[in-house]
Amino acid sequence: MPFLETIEKGISKARDLGELSRLNSEIAIRETHRKECFTVMGEKYYDSLKNGTVPDCRILYREIENIEGELEGLQRQIQRLQKVMICPGCRAKLTIVSAFCPFCGAELAKRNLCPNCGAVLDPEANYCVNCGNRAIGRKEE
Ligand SMILES: [Zn+2]
Ligand SMILES: [Zn+2]
Repeated sequence: MPFLETIEKGISKARDLGELSRLNSEIAIRETHRKECFTVMGEKYYDSLKNGTVPDCRILYREIENIEGELEGLQRQIQRLQKVMICPGCRAKLTIVSAFCPFCGAELAKRNLCPNCGAVLDPEANYCVNCGNRAIGRKEE
């Protein structure tokens, strides 16, 4: 592999990893916030039982719904990042999972491919025998 190409691949991989850890920390912040909302909700409910009143948790409910929506969006972004794969035919980095490689026409569907190095794996394999990366396991899609 040419030197420059190696560097470029290293940089884009680092960028993906950076993006992944950013998304993961965004998720952690929201999960903590959601837990806080549930705690406040529980306290409100406790107080209302104690005082014989009806708890009003609509604002908290809406807040939690918002957080859930944001979490869903973040999870989707992570999935999109993890869909990045290397074509086994031409080694192009593909972000869209399609049946064939748009650059060299290699068949991508119905094959268990390593998204990291593009190795064609045993259909049952969960991990790449070449680089140890988690396999895509396309047969399940
Ligand atoms: Zn290709
Ligand atoms: Zn691999």
